[in-house]
Amino acid sequence: MPKIDYVVSEKVCTACGGCEAICPVGAPRADQLRSEIKHEEDCRDVDLFKEECSYCVDCYACERVCPILDGFPGDDEFDNVRFVKAGRSPMHGQDGGVTSQILKSLFEQGEIDCAFGIARNEKWETEVILMTRASDVARTSGTKYNYMPIIAGMREIIRDVSHRYERIAIVGCPCQSHAARLLKDNLTDKIKLILGLVCMESFSYENLCQHIIPDKIGLNIEDVVKMDFAKGKFVVTSRTGEVKRVPIKEIAELARDGCHHCLDYTSYYADISLGSVGAPDGWNSVIVRTEAGEEYLSKVSDLELTDDVSVDFLKKLADTKHKNNAWNYKEFMERVWAVGYPNRIEHFGYEVPWKKEAVNVQKYSLQVKSD
Ligand SMILES: Cc1cc2nc3c(=O)[nH]c(=O)nc-3n(C[C@H](O)[C@H](O)[C@H](O)COP(=O)(O)OP(=O)(O)OC[C@H]3O[C@@H](n4cnc5c(N)ncnc54)[C@H](O)[C@@H]3O)c2cc1C
Ligand code: SF4
Ligand code: SF4
Ligand code: SF4
Repeated sequence: MPKIDYVVSEKVCTACGGCEAICPVGAPRADQLRSEIKHEEDCRDVDLFKEECSYCVDCYACERVCPILDGFPGDDEFDNVRFVKAGRSPMHGQDGGVTSQILKSLFEQGEIDCAFGIARNEKWETEVILMTRASDVARTSGTKYNYMPIIAGMREIIRDVSHRYERIAIVGCPCQSHAARLLKDNLTDKIKLILGLVCMESFSYENLCQHIIPDKIGLNIEDVVKMDFAKGKFVVTSRTGEVKRVPIKEIAELARDGCHHCLDYTSYYADISLGSVGAPDGWNSVIVRTEAGEEYLSKVSDLELTDDVSVDFLKKLADTKHKNNAWNYKEFMERVWAVGYPNRIEHFGYEVPWKKEAVNVQKYSLQVKSD
């Protein structure tokens, strides 16, 4: 049984879709809440001549790309930061539009072949879209606080025998940026740029659009043009310009299970992280973390970058997330990695080719809940 089974059954799965992307047989499927993994017994009653039922063959590839099994960044999320700026662009966006401008400009210069992002319709139903041109980028503008397993989209790209897409950019929440980094390190160097968003939490479509918006905000979802988290409030703007707010603490408990266990606020594993916290209104906080991030950012046109950004504020909110979501992560990791690889290994006698130990859990000091 792959260790992602524990990630799922203990409800700490982020639903990033990394396991779905890498699995050779298509056994895991991630939805907005978590992954579901089919095992042989799930297909026992299925007539395989009539119905497709791909079950896990215990190859353990998924363990290498699961952000939970790899481990969170540790107490200090800022130890790999090269520099931080405030940024904005002429693109329409959630904050300064820097995310969209980076993609648009890199497409225009032929630096990337494709990028993954999230688009929405009038009901805020979301879909993962593959952008291949600069003109596709505007479709993904704006933050959708309901979650999609964006990394699952890499499944097609990994199996793209025509090699149409050799230089891929990914935009995602910290969990998705982490999965993208693991896919890059373990499977495909085609992922050239990982743009990670700052993220406190996300929601299922049902909780956000069918419960919070009508019941707590008092708007029809079709009338909503923008959602935002700012200054302790969930802020919703309607198409008539009406702005409604509720305290975040009134809705935070409705976030997804995985988000309540998540200990990465600023997309530690991204090349460039983008948020609003720490920057003036209408600007992005832009955190450059890798050489690739620095190189790509230097190529982007029409970006205004200043030093008017508070790293201390970003750190403060990162600490808040670590404290709010503290759980017995060390115990989980030690327990899960202590379990051997019984099934096929005993039968066939092979070693897991990429077996690895638990990450250095000593990095973590906060992960035990006090209650
Ligand atoms: C769930 C969530 C929670 C967030 N929480 C915070 C926070 O607490 N503090 C903070 O400072 N910033 C947070 N952000 C980031 C912030 O909302 C902006 O996305 C960021 O500042 C970039 O702004 P922009 O103007 O450059 O984006 P834009 O140029 O408008 O581009 C938006 C990009 O975000 C992508 N995107 C939109 N929704 C999603 C989604 N659900 N999952 C993955 N990608 C998506 C789009 O594909 C697009 O590429 C959060 C983002 C998300 C998705
Ligand atoms: S162990 Fe292999 S076959 Fe099973 S879910 Fe993971 S990647 Fe798929
Ligand atoms: S966190 Fe991601 S890779 Fe891990 S089990 Fe969940 S969907 Fe799969
Ligand atoms: S809080 Fe954000 S990064 Fe963490 S699991 Fe939820 S969506 Fe992913």
